[in-house]
Amino acid sequence: MERCPTCNAKYAGKRLCHRCKTDLGALVAIEERAYAHLEKAKAAFASNDLHEMFFHAKRSCSLRRTPEAAKLLSCAALLFNRFDLAIKGVLLCTGQKK
Ligand SMILES: [Zn+2]
Repeated sequence: MERCPTCNAKYAGKRLCHRCKTDLGALVAIEERAYAHLEKAKAAFASNDLHEMFFHAKRSCSLRRTPEAAKLLSCAALLFNRFDLAIKGVLLCTGQKK
């Protein structure tokens, strides 16, 4: 998260927004879970556990749509001939919504 979703102040890395005092803890927790799933997807790919990779890539991308998560989802989807998800990932990578 780069900015507070309530007041658009720059995120300073703390649980409460420094400007409006919105509790950002739940959002930070979601970002951390997304990152953890992303790392698990990479580790699963490295150990050739492609089903596990696909699962974690989907979870990561559903929690937080980053270009890296979208790329990983596209790659995992292609490995399982899920071209619909692969295209969705590409569109997310390029900033197009679908
Ligand atoms: Zn704020």
